[in-house]
Amino acid sequence: MNLKFLSDFEAKELILEIGRRMYTKNYVAANDGNISCKTGPDTIWTTPTGVSKGYMKGDDLVKMGLDGRVIQQGKLKPSSEIKMHLRVYNENPEVCGVCHAHPPVSTSFAIGGISLDKAIYPEALVNLGTVPCVHYEAPGSQGIPDSIAPYCTTHNALLLANHGALAWGASLMEAWYRLESVEHYAMILMYTGNIIGKANVLSCDQVRELVKIREKLGIRTGGLPSCCVDRATNLADVGGSSGGARALCVAGVPGGTAGPADTEAAPPAGSAKTGLSALDIESIVREVVSALGKNG
Ligand SMILES: [Zn+2]
Repeated sequence: MNLKFLSDFEAKELILEIGRRMYTKNYVAANDGNISCKTGPDTIWTTPTGVSKGYMKGDDLVKMGLDGRVIQQGKLKPSSEIKMHLRVYNENPEVCGVCHAHPPVSTSFAIGGISLDKAIYPEALVNLGTVPCVHYEAPGSQGIPDSIAPYCTTHNALLLANHGALAWGASLMEAWYRLESVEHYAMILMYTGNIIGKANVLSCDQVRELVKIREKLGIRTGGLPSCCVDRATNLADVGGSSGGARALCVAGVPGGTAGPADTEAAPPAGSAKTGLSALDIESIVREVVSALGKNG
């Protein structure tokens, strides 16, 4: 393990910058959230209690030892939630940055007690992994560090039941990107599950392939999606938005623009009001014209 620590100045500047991003992205309200960054094997800089993360100044930040003692502070004390940051650093010495916030979508999943563990999105699987939801403990209590401890070396982020999201990484920037990924992943799960109403879950083979990529990138944490289908359901091209519209674009029809996948997905001719293909219409028109010719 060869950790590269930021200087005190760099760590403080980065904490202020991530605080502004956190606040601008609506991940925190009022004085919520906390951020920390390791600057040596046993020291961190962190955010204080009682201040908006969007408007902090360098003098507001607190320097602490990993044993919880304050080394340097301004007028404000460290957050009571710093206990969970310290626990992540103490459980996993490879961690150099931790971010905690209450982003609306992932916090809603945390309130629902729903882990983010569906294999639907390669980016989330490779760079973030699954995000278990740990049981409820009161914010700021000793219960939270105890609840997260089992996951600190196996995962990269957690949902805290009825509370918010926590992410860590080999640098503070990585921890922040992971927190962003948690909210993004939660948003996609919300859209596919509750608005679109459908998600093609990656097959086990597709997940295995992504895990290999993750291992090649040197990421050994992140867990595995709890369950994936045993058969790929995402291997056909999907064109158009409904059978009716697609039925008019069958391959081989003069003027049609159909690709090969359309033939398979087209509904049986005449099976519904909108199920007539251009070929059917053309042959009906031909029959009608010919009948009119005979009778006229
Ligand atoms: Zn919190």
